[in-house]
Amino acid sequence: MTDTIRYDRGADGIVTLTLDDPDQSANTMNRAYAASMTAVLDRLEAERDDLTGVIVTSAKQTFFAGGDLDEMGRATRADAPALAELLGTIKRDLRRLETLGRPVVAAINGAALGGGLEIALACHHRIALDAPGSRLGLPEVTLGLLPGAGGVTRTVRMLGLAAALTTVLLTGRRMRPADALAAGLVDEVVATDEEMLTRAREWIAANPRPAQPWDRPDYRMPGGTPASRGLAAQLPAYPANLRKQLKGARLPAPEAILATAVEGAQVDLETALTVETRHLITLLTGQIAKNMIGAFHVDLRAVNGGAARPSGVDAAPVRKVAVLGAGMMGAGIAYVCAKAGLEVVVRDVSEEAAGRARDHAGKLLAKAVRRGRIGEADAQAVLDRITTTAGLDALAGCDAVIEAVFEDPALKQAVFAEVTPVVTADALLASNTSTLPITGLAAQVARPADFIGMHFFSPVDKMPLLEIVVGEQTGDVALARAFDLGRRIGKTPIVVNDGRGFFTSRVIGRFIDEAVGMLAEGVPAASVEQAALQAGYPTGPLALADEVSLTLIQRIRRQFEAAGEGFVALPSHRLVDTMLDTHERPGRTGGRGFYDYADGSRGRLWSGLADLATDAGRAVPLPDLKERMLFAEALDALRCLDEGVLRTETDANIGSILGIGFPAWTGGVIRYVRQYAGGPAGFAARAAELAARYGDRFTPPADLAERLAAGSPDPARDGRPVGAA
Ligand code: NAD
Repeated sequence: MTDTIRYDRGADGIVTLTLDDPDQSANTMNRAYAASMTAVLDRLEAERDDLTGVIVTSAKQTFFAGGDLDEMGRATRADAPALAELLGTIKRDLRRLETLGRPVVAAINGAALGGGLEIALACHHRIALDAPGSRLGLPEVTLGLLPGAGGVTRTVRMLGLAAALTTVLLTGRRMRPADALAAGLVDEVVATDEEMLTRAREWIAANPRPAQPWDRPDYRMPGGTPASRGLAAQLPAYPANLRKQLKGARLPAPEAILATAVEGAQVDLETALTVETRHLITLLTGQIAKNMIGAFHVDLRAVNGGAARPSGVDAAPVRKVAVLGAGMMGAGIAYVCAKAGLEVVVRDVSEEAAGRARDHAGKLLAKAVRRGRIGEADAQAVLDRITTTAGLDALAGCDAVIEAVFEDPALKQAVFAEVTPVVTADALLASNTSTLPITGLAAQVARPADFIGMHFFSPVDKMPLLEIVVGEQTGDVALARAFDLGRRIGKTPIVVNDGRGFFTSRVIGRFIDEAVGMLAEGVPAASVEQAALQAGYPTGPLALADEVSLTLIQRIRRQFEAAGEGFVALPSHRLVDTMLDTHERPGRTGGRGFYDYADGSRGRLWSGLADLATDAGRAVPLPDLKERMLFAEALDALRCLDEGVLRTETDANIGSILGIGFPAWTGGVIRYVRQYAGGPAGFAARAAELAARYGDRFTPPADLAERLAAGSPDPARDGRPVGAA
């Protein structure tokens, strides 16, 4: 088997273990690693008498990437014994390392996530290099897993039960080195490689016979052990706290982490490690971890790797971007572009209006400086890259335009007509419209082949998704440029074909329609919100509608109505009209919507909502409340595939989770259909049931089961479309 760890013994008796898997760009906890580590430990133990200490570091850009997700994503129940054995070997060897009787220092030269951090936790001292982009943490929970190479066991013993759970294990936070230091996960942060190695040697010299805290006779768990009085009193509150943190959703990974941590804290370390393995195997062989690995590992890699980028087009990196409109979106787009190193010129109707983009960037940068995320000089350099103007001259030389003026086709046409002659002759022309068909807008510009939709999400600096919308005339060069620009500014770009509302704005509309429709049927607003949170949505639909603004929701619906295109009037539409026209409740920015907003923060659901029911009928059971929202979105996503708006299932899955908050545990909206109990046929049967009870909008596509069966068994792997033939 491949040797993935180099063993170098220096004249000073210090062994440097260099993690360096020759077959992969990053080190992972695969079988080759396990075999190499066993060999390394055999040798370390044999040579112990001549050893001064050990430094564990890596030759890769990252320290260690973690578990082998490709292998884990395929695990079935039949693999459980082999997996348990592999985990047992890995844990036994990390235990041998920490009880070697010689100082072991982790010199963490780059990202150490999951398994990487677990290796470091088995070292006596951890020094992290403050490398750009380096992150440390145990993100397993975000993949439906738990850290099963000692991560739960050791963080609980190192930080205490409460701190380990809330800062590391249940959040899955990927921390910058400075934050990892503050959290107590590492002992030192250094600026250079040399410093890292010098400090490692100094620490070894100063601590010739170290032991892990938990191996010392006087060890006491920080915050107390469950047996001690303080913690015993808190223990019963843990499941309730967890439920609160998860907003009511019952997900197996957080629950398994909690159980592992609490159980493990009450037994000896060796037993705790086996408890951890048992819980991890249950998660690994279950469906939710597969869904999440499918989405966040396999699908995300395909999307970011450029599956949708035309391969024949050379990269021609954009250098200077014109952003038209300095409103909420324009200002956010200007900031992310400048932060990625691009020159940005923001144009609005007046100098003052345009200046808001710099103010916005200034505020975000000041916050980043305060939190130690960026140095003052670098922050100033970002700000200096943003120029603002009300004129045209400053736009000369821009090789990309991103338009974010009001959602008005005539205005958009006018600004492109003004700007196109000033920017470079082949500049990318992009609109951030959230609903207007790109083909229609393209018809009004001078170079339709260079015209494309780049649909960002608010707040732009936080939301990871970019929905690239290809119009009928959009050329491959424009698509490749938009894709590359999206990647350059750190976004995950899905590519969809044109259509009103594209994929995301259209499908999120079904979610809000369905929820508001339930209000019209007399379902209490609080039940609607709670059902969505329990289903795993990050925000309730009514809170979301307030955020989007009911005025905008009404305007978009009227555009659909005017365009025909199979528009169906729903009771929810009437309810939104009543909210606006009779009660003047436009949503969050107006201070009142479905919720009341006191001093900007979300207060209570408006007490008048119960009186708005127009279609009150029988009570809707909780499973129906949840599934009406999930199915409304899933069925419309299937229609998007049929109509060719969506090109691949992969884009649907990633776009639904990252763009519109479809519950992450599903692994995405189409994976939800595939994995529904009974498979696509089970989904279709349940949809037919909902259709009989609640209306035709739930009628499933006739041949759904056959079509999905004909698609690739694991769509995540090749992104093959199952939609229009
Ligand atoms: P906004 O009202 O905050 O900002 C629009 C800006 O455009 C204003 O600053 C306005 O002064 C400026 N403007 C108007 N006429 C102009 C002109 N002739 N030249 C230059 N600037 C001009 O709007 P927003 O929320 O930032 O939305 C902008 C676009 O982004 C819209 O097309 C919207 O549909 C889309 N969008 C919005 C969101 C969202 O969540 N708000 C999300 C995605 C896309």
